[in-house]
Amino acid sequence: MSRRFTLSTPVPAAERDQSFWLRDTAALARRFPALAGDVHADVAIIGGGLTGLWSAIRLRETSPELRVVVVEAVECGYGASGRNGGQVHSWFESLDRLADATDEAEAFRLAQATSDAMDELQALQDSGELDMGLRLDGWLWTASSIAQEGAWDGALERTAARGVAPYQPVDAAELQRRTGSTASYTGVLERKAGTLHPGKLMRNLAIYAATKGVEIFERSPVTELTAGSPATLRTASGSVTAGKVLLATNIWASAIPQLRRKMFIVDSEVIATEQIPERLEAFGWTDGASVCDAQDQVLYYQRTEDGRIVFGRGSGRTTFRDRIGAAFNRRRDGGMADTIAEFHRVYPQLRDVRIDYDWTGGIDCVPAHVPIFGNLAGASNVFYALGWNGTALAQIPATSRIIASMILGRTDEWGRSKLINQRRAKSLPPEPFRFVGAIIVRQAIVWKNRAEIVNRRPNPVLRAVLTLMPKGTREHE
Ligand SMILES: Cc1cc2nc3c(=O)[nH]c(=O)nc-3n(C[C@H](O)[C@H](O)[C@H](O)COP(=O)(O)OP(=O)(O)OC[C@H]3O[C@@H](n4cnc5c(N)ncnc54)[C@H](O)[C@@H]3O)c2cc1C
Repeated sequence: MSRRFTLSTPVPAAERDQSFWLRDTAALARRFPALAGDVHADVAIIGGGLTGLWSAIRLRETSPELRVVVVEAVECGYGASGRNGGQVHSWFESLDRLADATDEAEAFRLAQATSDAMDELQALQDSGELDMGLRLDGWLWTASSIAQEGAWDGALERTAARGVAPYQPVDAAELQRRTGSTASYTGVLERKAGTLHPGKLMRNLAIYAATKGVEIFERSPVTELTAGSPATLRTASGSVTAGKVLLATNIWASAIPQLRRKMFIVDSEVIATEQIPERLEAFGWTDGASVCDAQDQVLYYQRTEDGRIVFGRGSGRTTFRDRIGAAFNRRRDGGMADTIAEFHRVYPQLRDVRIDYDWTGGIDCVPAHVPIFGNLAGASNVFYALGWNGTALAQIPATSRIIASMILGRTDEWGRSKLINQRRAKSLPPEPFRFVGAIIVRQAIVWKNRAEIVNRRPNPVLRAVLTLMPKGTREHE
Protein backbone atom coordinates (compact mmCIF):
# COMPACT_ATOMS: atom_id res chain seq x y z
CA MET A 1 0.00 0.00 0.00
CA SER A 2 1.40 3.42 -0.86
CA ARG A 3 1.06 6.51 1.28
CA ARG A 4 1.26 10.03 -0.05
CA PHE A 5 2.77 12.95 1.87
CA THR A 6 2.51 16.59 0.89
CA LEU A 7 5.71 18.46 1.70
CA SER A 8 6.08 22.11 2.45
CA THR A 9 8.79 24.09 0.75
CA PRO A 10 10.98 26.91 2.06
CA VAL A 11 10.11 30.56 1.42
CA PRO A 12 12.99 31.74 -0.79
CA ALA A 13 14.89 34.74 0.60
CA ALA A 14 15.93 37.75 -1.46
CA GLU A 15 19.72 38.13 -1.55
CA ARG A 16 19.64 40.98 1.00
CA ASP A 17 17.82 38.66 3.45
CA GLN A 18 20.39 35.88 3.30
CA SER A 19 23.08 35.20 5.86
CA PHE A 20 26.41 36.97 5.82
CA TRP A 21 28.00 33.58 5.20
CA LEU A 22 26.14 32.83 1.97
CA ARG A 23 26.52 36.39 0.68
CA ASP A 24 30.23 36.37 1.50
CA THR A 25 30.76 33.23 -0.56
CA ALA A 26 28.37 33.81 -3.48
CA ALA A 27 31.34 33.60 -5.86
CA LEU A 28 32.12 30.05 -4.68
CA ALA A 29 28.64 28.74 -5.56
CA ARG A 30 28.56 26.04 -8.15
CA ARG A 31 25.12 25.81 -9.72
CA PHE A 32 23.73 22.31 -9.87
CA PRO A 33 20.93 21.60 -12.37
CA ALA A 34 17.25 21.54 -11.50
CA LEU A 35 15.58 18.15 -11.58
CA ALA A 36 14.04 17.51 -14.99
CA GLY A 37 12.29 14.37 -16.19
CA ASP A 38 12.27 11.06 -14.40
CA VAL A 39 15.34 9.90 -12.52
CA HIS A 40 15.92 6.51 -10.87
CA ALA A 41 18.12 6.19 -7.82
CA ASP A 42 18.98 3.75 -5.08
CA VAL A 43 18.67 6.47 -2.45
CA ALA A 44 16.96 9.85 -2.87
CA ILE A 45 17.69 12.49 -0.27
CA ILE A 46 15.38 15.46 0.13
CA GLY A 47 17.32 18.51 1.38
CA GLY A 48 20.85 19.69 0.62
CA GLY A 49 21.95 20.81 4.09
CA LEU A 50 24.54 19.19 6.30
CA THR A 51 22.29 16.20 7.00
CA GLY A 52 21.52 15.51 3.35
CA LEU A 53 25.05 16.05 2.04
CA TRP A 54 26.97 14.22 4.77
CA SER A 55 24.55 11.28 4.62
CA ALA A 56 24.97 11.14 0.84
CA ILE A 57 28.77 11.20 1.20
CA ARG A 58 28.72 8.40 3.81
CA LEU A 59 26.43 6.28 1.62
CA ARG A 60 28.81 6.59 -1.30
CA GLU A 61 31.85 5.96 0.91
CA THR A 62 30.25 2.76 2.24
CA SER A 63 28.71 1.58 -1.02
CA PRO A 64 30.26 3.29 -4.05
CA GLU A 65 27.96 1.38 -6.40
CA LEU A 66 24.85 3.17 -5.09
CA ARG A 67 23.19 5.90 -7.12
CA VAL A 68 22.52 8.62 -4.56
CA VAL A 69 20.68 11.82 -5.51
CA VAL A 70 20.09 14.93 -3.40
CA VAL A 71 17.12 17.10 -4.31
CA GLU A 72 17.31 20.59 -2.80
CA ALA A 73 14.52 23.18 -2.93
CA VAL A 74 16.72 26.27 -3.24
CA GLU A 75 20.50 25.77 -3.10
CA CYS A 76 22.70 23.60 -0.92
CA GLY A 77 23.16 25.35 2.41
CA TYR A 78 20.01 27.45 2.04
CA GLY A 79 18.62 26.27 5.39
CA ALA A 80 20.18 26.31 8.85
CA SER A 81 23.45 24.90 7.47
CA GLY A 82 24.25 28.15 5.70
CA ARG A 83 22.94 30.45 8.43
CA ASN A 84 24.32 29.15 11.71
CA GLY A 85 26.82 30.60 14.16
CA GLY A 86 29.72 28.48 12.87
CA GLN A 87 30.47 27.13 16.35
CA VAL A 88 32.04 23.69 16.32
CA HIS A 89 32.21 21.70 19.52
CA SER A 90 31.87 18.14 20.69
CA TRP A 91 29.01 16.30 22.34
CA PHE A 92 30.90 15.90 25.64
CA GLU A 93 28.63 18.72 26.85
CA SER A 94 25.58 16.51 26.16
CA LEU A 95 26.71 13.23 27.74
CA ASP A 96 23.73 13.30 30.13
CA ARG A 97 21.14 13.70 27.40
CA LEU A 98 22.87 11.18 25.16
CA ALA A 99 22.94 8.66 28.00
CA ASP A 100 19.21 9.23 28.63
CA ALA A 101 18.46 8.51 24.98
CA THR A 102 20.94 5.64 24.53
CA ASP A 103 23.11 4.32 27.37
CA GLU A 104 26.32 5.42 29.13
CA ALA A 105 28.63 3.49 26.80
CA GLU A 106 27.02 4.72 23.60
CA ALA A 107 26.80 8.29 24.90
CA PHE A 108 30.54 8.31 25.38
CA ARG A 109 31.15 6.72 21.96
CA LEU A 110 28.96 9.37 20.30
CA ALA A 111 30.72 12.20 22.13
CA GLN A 112 34.09 10.75 21.12
CA ALA A 113 32.85 10.42 17.52
CA THR A 114 32.09 14.16 17.44
CA SER A 115 35.58 14.90 18.70
CA ASP A 116 37.00 12.59 16.00
CA ALA A 117 34.80 14.35 13.43
CA MET A 118 36.67 17.58 14.15
CA ASP A 119 39.93 15.78 13.30
CA GLU A 120 38.32 14.58 10.08
CA LEU A 121 37.18 18.12 9.19
CA GLN A 122 40.66 19.47 9.93
CA ALA A 123 42.28 16.77 7.77
CA LEU A 124 39.88 17.48 4.89
CA GLN A 125 40.72 21.15 5.11
CA ASP A 126 44.47 20.56 5.41
CA SER A 127 44.47 18.26 2.37
CA GLY A 128 42.80 20.99 0.29
CA GLU A 129 39.74 18.82 -0.37
CA LEU A 130 37.27 20.86 1.68
CA ASP A 131 38.03 24.40 2.78
CA MET A 132 35.59 25.53 5.45
CA GLY A 133 37.54 28.24 7.29
CA LEU A 134 37.91 25.85 10.24
CA ARG A 135 39.88 27.29 13.18
CA LEU A 136 40.13 24.88 16.09
CA ASP A 137 41.11 27.52 18.63
CA GLY A 138 38.77 26.26 21.34
CA TRP A 139 35.25 26.79 22.68
CA LEU A 140 34.73 29.14 25.61
CA TRP A 141 31.64 27.96 27.50
CA THR A 142 31.02 30.77 29.93
CA ALA A 143 28.72 32.34 32.52
CA SER A 144 27.69 35.97 32.70
CA SER A 145 25.41 35.70 35.75
CA ILE A 146 25.22 33.70 38.97
CA ALA A 147 22.43 31.50 37.57
CA GLN A 148 24.69 30.43 34.69
CA GLU A 149 27.70 29.51 36.81
CA GLY A 150 28.60 25.84 36.76
CA ALA A 151 26.45 25.00 33.70
CA TRP A 152 29.37 22.76 32.70
CA ASP A 153 29.74 20.91 36.03
CA GLY A 154 27.83 17.83 34.86
CA ALA A 155 29.98 17.57 31.74
CA LEU A 156 33.16 17.89 33.83
CA GLU A 157 32.01 15.14 36.18
CA ARG A 158 30.99 12.75 33.42
CA THR A 159 34.16 13.24 31.39
CA ALA A 160 36.35 12.90 34.50
CA ALA A 161 34.56 9.65 35.35
CA ARG A 162 35.63 8.35 31.94
CA GLY A 163 39.20 9.54 32.39
CA VAL A 164 39.12 12.26 29.74
CA ALA A 165 39.54 15.99 30.24
CA PRO A 166 38.41 17.92 27.18
CA TYR A 167 37.74 21.05 29.26
CA GLN A 168 39.94 23.31 31.37
CA PRO A 169 38.81 26.19 33.61
CA VAL A 170 39.10 29.79 32.42
CA ASP A 171 38.91 32.84 34.65
CA ALA A 172 37.71 36.40 34.13
CA ALA A 173 41.15 37.72 33.16
CA GLU A 174 41.62 35.12 30.44
CA LEU A 175 38.10 35.61 29.12
CA GLN A 176 38.66 39.34 28.87
CA ARG A 177 42.05 38.84 27.25
CA ARG A 178 40.65 36.45 24.65
CA THR A 179 37.33 38.13 23.85
CA GLY A 180 37.63 41.74 24.97
CA SER A 181 34.46 41.41 27.05
CA THR A 182 33.96 41.43 30.81
CA ALA A 183 30.35 40.19 30.58
CA SER A 184 31.37 36.56 31.04
CA TYR A 185 33.64 36.12 34.04
CA THR A 186 34.02 32.37 34.49
CA GLY A 187 33.81 29.25 32.37
CA VAL A 188 35.64 26.40 30.74
CA LEU A 189 37.58 26.03 27.52
CA GLU A 190 37.06 22.97 25.34
CA ARG A 191 40.46 22.73 23.70
CA LYS A 192 39.49 20.80 20.57
CA ALA A 193 36.69 22.99 19.23
CA GLY A 194 36.36 26.33 17.48
CA THR A 195 34.60 27.93 14.55
CA LEU A 196 34.18 27.65 10.83
CA HIS A 197 32.67 29.66 7.97
CA PRO A 198 29.31 28.01 7.16
CA GLY A 199 29.22 29.60 3.68
CA LYS A 200 32.59 28.14 2.73
CA LEU A 201 31.64 24.82 4.26
CA MET A 202 28.33 24.45 2.44
CA ARG A 203 29.52 25.74 -0.95
CA ASN A 204 32.51 23.42 -0.84
CA LEU A 205 30.71 20.46 0.75
CA ALA A 206 28.29 20.33 -2.19
CA ILE A 207 31.25 20.26 -4.60
CA TYR A 208 33.01 17.65 -2.43
CA ALA A 209 29.84 15.48 -2.44
CA ALA A 210 29.67 15.76 -6.22
CA THR A 211 33.29 14.58 -6.50
CA LYS A 212 32.26 11.55 -4.43
CA GLY A 213 29.64 10.74 -7.05
CA VAL A 214 26.56 12.23 -5.37
CA GLU A 215 24.13 13.69 -7.92
CA ILE A 216 22.73 17.02 -6.79
CA PHE A 217 19.69 18.87 -8.07
CA GLU A 218 18.98 22.41 -6.88
CA ARG A 219 16.04 24.81 -7.27
CA SER A 220 13.84 21.71 -7.13
CA PRO A 221 11.31 21.88 -4.29
CA VAL A 222 9.82 18.45 -3.62
CA THR A 223 6.09 18.90 -3.25
CA GLU A 224 4.98 15.31 -2.83
CA LEU A 225 6.43 12.05 -1.61
CA THR A 226 4.71 8.75 -2.30
CA ALA A 227 5.93 5.92 -0.12
CA GLY A 228 5.97 2.42 -1.55
CA SER A 229 8.43 0.19 -3.24
CA PRO A 230 9.93 2.11 -4.93
CA ALA A 231 9.09 5.49 -3.39
CA THR A 232 8.55 8.51 -5.62
CA LEU A 233 9.20 12.14 -5.01
CA ARG A 234 7.89 14.86 -7.28
CA THR A 235 8.94 18.37 -8.15
CA ALA A 236 7.32 20.78 -10.63
CA SER A 237 9.50 19.52 -13.47
CA GLY A 238 10.53 16.01 -12.57
CA SER A 239 10.40 12.99 -10.32
CA VAL A 240 12.76 10.56 -8.64
CA THR A 241 11.86 6.95 -8.00
CA ALA A 242 14.10 5.38 -5.40
CA GLY A 243 14.40 2.26 -3.33
CA LYS A 244 15.01 4.38 -0.23
CA VAL A 245 14.36 7.99 0.71
CA LEU A 246 15.88 10.17 3.40
CA LEU A 247 13.98 13.23 4.59
CA ALA A 248 16.75 15.67 5.45
CA THR A 249 14.51 18.71 5.46
CA ASN A 250 15.11 19.91 9.01
CA ILE A 251 12.30 22.25 10.18
CA TRP A 252 10.33 21.62 6.99
CA ALA A 253 9.89 17.97 8.06
CA SER A 254 7.11 19.41 10.22
CA ALA A 255 4.87 19.19 7.15
CA ILE A 256 4.48 15.48 7.93
CA PRO A 257 2.03 15.14 10.84
CA GLN A 258 3.76 12.16 12.47
CA LEU A 259 7.09 14.06 12.50
CA ARG A 260 5.46 17.29 13.63
CA ARG A 261 4.37 15.49 16.80
CA LYS A 262 8.00 14.69 17.57
CA MET A 263 9.49 18.18 17.10
CA PHE A 264 9.10 21.84 17.86
CA ILE A 265 10.64 24.66 15.90
CA VAL A 266 12.35 27.66 17.40
CA ASP A 267 14.28 30.33 15.63
CA SER A 268 17.62 31.87 16.33
CA GLU A 269 18.79 35.36 15.34
CA VAL A 270 22.23 36.32 14.11
CA ILE A 271 23.93 39.65 13.41
CA ALA A 272 27.31 40.41 11.82
CA THR A 273 29.11 43.68 12.40
CA GLU A 274 31.13 45.70 9.96
CA GLN A 275 34.82 44.78 9.70
CA ILE A 276 36.72 46.03 12.75
CA PRO A 277 39.89 43.89 12.82
CA GLU A 278 42.10 46.56 14.43
CA ARG A 279 39.69 47.10 17.31
CA LEU A 280 39.40 43.36 17.91
CA GLU A 281 43.15 42.95 17.80
CA ALA A 282 43.50 45.80 20.31
CA PHE A 283 41.30 43.70 22.67
CA GLY A 284 43.53 40.71 22.04
CA TRP A 285 40.76 38.88 20.17
CA THR A 286 42.79 37.42 17.36
CA ASP A 287 41.76 33.78 17.01
CA GLY A 288 38.82 31.65 15.93
CA ALA A 289 37.56 30.50 19.31
CA SER A 290 33.82 30.09 19.68
CA VAL A 291 32.17 31.74 22.67
CA CYS A 292 28.86 30.89 24.36
CA ASP A 293 27.20 31.93 27.56
CA ALA A 294 24.86 29.65 29.48
CA GLN A 295 21.55 31.50 29.32
CA ASP A 296 18.53 29.50 28.26
CA GLN A 297 18.36 31.88 25.29
CA VAL A 298 21.99 31.15 24.65
CA LEU A 299 24.35 33.78 23.21
CA TYR A 300 26.97 32.51 20.76
CA TYR A 301 29.63 34.55 19.05
CA GLN A 302 32.84 34.42 17.10
CA ARG A 303 35.35 36.68 15.42
CA THR A 304 35.43 36.06 11.67
CA GLU A 305 38.67 35.82 9.76
CA ASP A 306 37.92 39.17 8.11
CA GLY A 307 37.46 40.93 11.47
CA ARG A 308 33.71 41.00 12.10
CA ILE A 309 31.85 39.78 15.15
CA VAL A 310 29.10 37.31 14.35
CA PHE A 311 26.75 37.28 17.32
CA GLY A 312 23.72 35.04 17.67
CA ARG A 313 20.93 34.44 20.13
CA GLY A 314 18.26 31.79 20.54
CA SER A 315 15.12 33.88 20.31
CA GLY A 316 12.76 30.95 20.76
CA ARG A 317 9.97 32.17 18.48
CA THR A 318 7.98 29.27 17.18
CA THR A 319 5.50 28.28 14.47
CA PHE A 320 1.94 27.11 14.32
CA ARG A 321 1.89 23.68 12.68
CA ASP A 322 4.36 23.85 9.79
CA ARG A 323 3.82 27.48 8.84
CA ILE A 324 7.40 28.62 8.41
CA GLY A 325 7.17 32.12 6.96
CA ALA A 326 9.61 34.74 5.71
CA ALA A 327 10.37 35.83 9.30
CA PHE A 328 12.36 32.59 9.48
CA ASN A 329 14.69 34.14 6.87
CA ARG A 330 15.02 37.64 8.25
CA ARG A 331 13.04 39.70 10.72
CA ARG A 332 11.80 43.13 9.73
CA ASP A 333 10.81 46.24 11.66
CA GLY A 334 13.43 46.23 14.37
CA GLY A 335 12.74 42.62 15.31
CA MET A 336 16.41 42.09 16.17
CA ALA A 337 16.41 44.75 18.92
CA ASP A 338 16.76 42.19 21.68
CA THR A 339 19.79 40.53 20.08
CA ILE A 340 21.42 43.90 19.39
CA ALA A 341 20.78 44.93 23.03
CA GLU A 342 22.53 41.75 24.17
CA PHE A 343 25.44 42.51 21.82
CA HIS A 344 25.76 45.95 23.42
CA ARG A 345 25.56 44.46 26.93
CA VAL A 346 28.44 42.11 26.11
CA TYR A 347 30.38 44.75 24.12
CA PRO A 348 29.37 48.21 25.46
CA GLN A 349 32.56 49.62 23.92
CA LEU A 350 31.27 48.66 20.43
CA ARG A 351 27.97 50.56 20.51
CA ASP A 352 29.16 52.70 17.61
CA VAL A 353 29.89 49.69 15.40
CA ARG A 354 27.60 49.22 12.42
CA ILE A 355 25.57 46.02 12.07
CA ASP A 356 26.02 45.08 8.42
CA TYR A 357 23.99 41.85 8.32
CA ASP A 358 21.15 40.25 10.23
CA TRP A 359 19.26 37.05 9.56
CA THR A 360 17.30 34.29 11.27
CA GLY A 361 17.05 30.54 10.95
CA GLY A 362 14.89 27.74 12.27
CA ILE A 363 16.05 25.05 14.66
CA ASP A 364 14.54 21.57 14.83
CA CYS A 365 14.19 20.72 18.51
CA VAL A 366 12.97 17.49 20.07
CA PRO A 367 12.15 17.01 23.75
CA ALA A 368 15.12 14.69 24.39
CA HIS A 369 17.46 17.29 22.92
CA VAL A 370 19.41 14.70 20.91
CA PRO A 371 18.61 13.79 17.32
CA ILE A 372 16.10 11.15 16.39
CA PHE A 373 16.57 8.84 13.42
CA GLY A 374 14.04 6.35 12.09
CA ASN A 375 11.56 5.51 9.39
CA LEU A 376 8.07 6.86 8.89
CA ALA A 377 5.29 4.73 10.31
CA GLY A 378 3.86 2.71 7.47
CA ALA A 379 6.85 3.41 5.19
CA SER A 380 9.81 1.22 6.05
CA ASN A 381 11.98 2.68 3.27
CA VAL A 382 11.38 6.38 4.05
CA PHE A 383 13.78 7.59 6.73
CA TYR A 384 14.17 10.81 8.68
CA ALA A 385 17.00 12.38 10.65
CA LEU A 386 16.17 15.45 12.70
CA GLY A 387 16.34 17.05 16.12
CA TRP A 388 19.80 18.61 16.03
CA ASN A 389 18.69 21.19 18.59
CA GLY A 390 21.17 23.79 17.37
CA THR A 391 24.35 21.72 17.61
CA ALA A 392 25.35 20.00 14.43
CA LEU A 393 28.62 21.01 12.79
CA ALA A 394 30.62 18.13 14.29
CA GLN A 395 27.55 16.08 15.23
CA ILE A 396 26.25 15.57 11.67
CA PRO A 397 29.57 14.41 10.17
CA ALA A 398 29.82 11.98 13.11
CA THR A 399 26.28 10.60 13.10
CA SER A 400 25.79 10.59 9.32
CA ARG A 401 27.46 7.17 9.57
CA ILE A 402 24.51 6.06 11.70
CA ILE A 403 22.07 7.50 9.16
CA ALA A 404 23.85 5.69 6.30
CA SER A 405 23.86 2.38 8.17
CA MET A 406 20.17 2.81 9.05
CA ILE A 407 19.28 3.41 5.39
CA LEU A 408 21.33 0.45 4.22
CA GLY A 409 19.95 -1.82 6.96
CA ARG A 410 23.45 -2.59 8.21
CA THR A 411 23.90 -4.07 11.66
CA ASP A 412 27.36 -2.64 12.26
CA GLU A 413 28.14 -0.53 15.33
CA TRP A 414 26.55 2.53 13.68
CA GLY A 415 23.45 0.65 12.55
CA ARG A 416 22.88 -0.59 16.10
CA SER A 417 22.84 2.94 17.52
CA LYS A 418 20.07 3.55 20.04
CA LEU A 419 19.48 6.94 18.42
CA ILE A 420 17.56 4.96 15.78
CA ASN A 421 13.87 4.51 16.62
CA GLN A 422 14.36 5.74 20.19
CA ARG A 423 11.98 3.98 22.49
CA ARG A 424 11.85 6.84 24.95
CA ALA A 425 11.29 9.65 22.40
CA LYS A 426 8.33 11.73 23.55
CA SER A 427 5.52 13.11 21.43
CA LEU A 428 4.35 16.67 21.82
CA PRO A 429 0.72 17.77 22.21
CA PRO A 430 -1.27 18.45 19.03
CA GLU A 431 -2.04 21.97 17.81
CA PRO A 432 -3.23 24.39 19.04
CA PHE A 433 -1.94 23.21 22.46
CA ARG A 434 1.65 22.88 21.28
CA PHE A 435 1.70 26.41 19.85
CA VAL A 436 0.03 28.02 22.87
CA GLY A 437 2.25 26.05 25.25
CA ALA A 438 5.36 27.12 23.35
CA ILE A 439 4.40 30.79 23.57
CA ILE A 440 3.87 30.53 27.33
CA VAL A 441 7.17 28.70 27.84
CA ARG A 442 9.06 31.20 25.68
CA GLN A 443 7.65 34.17 27.57
CA ALA A 444 8.53 32.52 30.88
CA ILE A 445 12.11 31.97 29.67
CA VAL A 446 12.42 35.57 28.47
CA TRP A 447 11.30 36.90 31.89
CA LYS A 448 13.51 34.42 33.72
CA ASN A 449 16.55 35.48 31.67
CA ARG A 450 15.84 39.15 32.25
CA ALA A 451 15.81 38.58 36.00
CA GLU A 452 18.80 36.25 36.12
CA ILE A 453 21.08 38.32 33.92
CA VAL A 454 21.01 41.04 36.60
CA ASN A 455 21.32 38.40 39.36
CA ARG A 456 17.72 38.66 40.51
CA ARG A 457 15.67 35.55 41.28
CA PRO A 458 12.66 35.05 39.00
CA ASN A 459 9.43 35.71 40.92
CA PRO A 460 7.60 32.75 42.51
CA VAL A 461 4.84 32.61 39.87
CA LEU A 462 7.42 32.42 37.11
CA ARG A 463 9.38 29.78 38.98
CA ALA A 464 6.20 27.73 39.29
CA VAL A 465 5.49 28.02 35.54
CA LEU A 466 9.06 26.97 34.75
CA THR A 467 8.81 23.82 36.85
CA LEU A 468 5.91 22.74 34.62
CA MET A 469 8.10 22.98 31.53
CA PRO A 470 8.91 19.63 29.97
CA LYS A 471 12.64 18.89 30.14
CA GLY A 472 14.36 19.86 26.92
CA THR A 473 12.02 22.60 25.79
CA ARG A 474 14.47 25.39 26.47
CA GLU A 475 16.00 26.90 23.41
CA HIS A 476 19.56 26.38 22.37
CA GLU A 477 21.60 27.98 19.63
C1 LIG B 1 20.65 30.63 13.45
C2 LIG B 1 21.24 29.27 13.72
C3 LIG B 1 22.43 29.17 14.43
C4 LIG B 1 23.01 27.92 14.63
N1 LIG B 1 24.25 27.86 15.19
C5 LIG B 1 24.90 26.68 15.23
C6 LIG B 1 26.25 26.64 15.63
O1 LIG B 1 26.87 27.66 15.91
N2 LIG B 1 26.86 25.42 15.70
C7 LIG B 1 26.22 24.27 15.35
O2 LIG B 1 26.82 23.20 15.42
N3 LIG B 1 24.94 24.30 14.91
C8 LIG B 1 24.28 25.48 14.82
N4 LIG B 1 23.00 25.52 14.35
C9 LIG B 1 22.34 24.27 13.96
C10 LIG B 1 22.75 23.74 12.59
O3 LIG B 1 22.95 24.79 11.68
C11 LIG B 1 21.65 22.81 12.07
O4 LIG B 1 21.32 21.86 13.05
C12 LIG B 1 22.06 22.08 10.81
O5 LIG B 1 22.51 22.99 9.85
C13 LIG B 1 20.89 21.27 10.29
O6 LIG B 1 21.24 20.75 9.04
P1 LIG B 1 20.11 20.09 8.16
O7 LIG B 1 20.75 19.64 6.90
O8 LIG B 1 19.38 19.08 8.95
O9 LIG B 1 19.08 21.24 7.88
P2 LIG B 1 19.10 22.51 6.80
O10 LIG B 1 20.46 23.01 6.70
O11 LIG B 1 18.03 23.38 7.23
O12 LIG B 1 18.79 21.76 5.46
C14 LIG B 1 17.49 21.38 5.09
C15 LIG B 1 17.40 21.63 3.60
O13 LIG B 1 16.18 21.05 3.12
C16 LIG B 1 15.71 21.88 2.07
N5 LIG B 1 14.29 21.57 1.90
C17 LIG B 1 13.28 21.79 2.77
N6 LIG B 1 12.11 21.37 2.25
C18 LIG B 1 12.39 20.87 1.04
C19 LIG B 1 11.60 20.29 0.00
N7 LIG B 1 10.28 20.15 0.14
N8 LIG B 1 12.21 19.90 -1.14
C20 LIG B 1 13.56 20.01 -1.28
N9 LIG B 1 14.36 20.56 -0.34
C21 LIG B 1 13.77 20.98 0.80
C22 LIG B 1 16.00 23.29 2.57
O14 LIG B 1 16.02 24.23 1.52
C23 LIG B 1 17.35 23.11 3.25
O15 LIG B 1 18.43 23.42 2.39
C24 LIG B 1 22.36 26.75 14.16
C25 LIG B 1 21.15 26.85 13.49
C26 LIG B 1 20.60 28.10 13.26
C27 LIG B 1 19.31 28.19 12.49
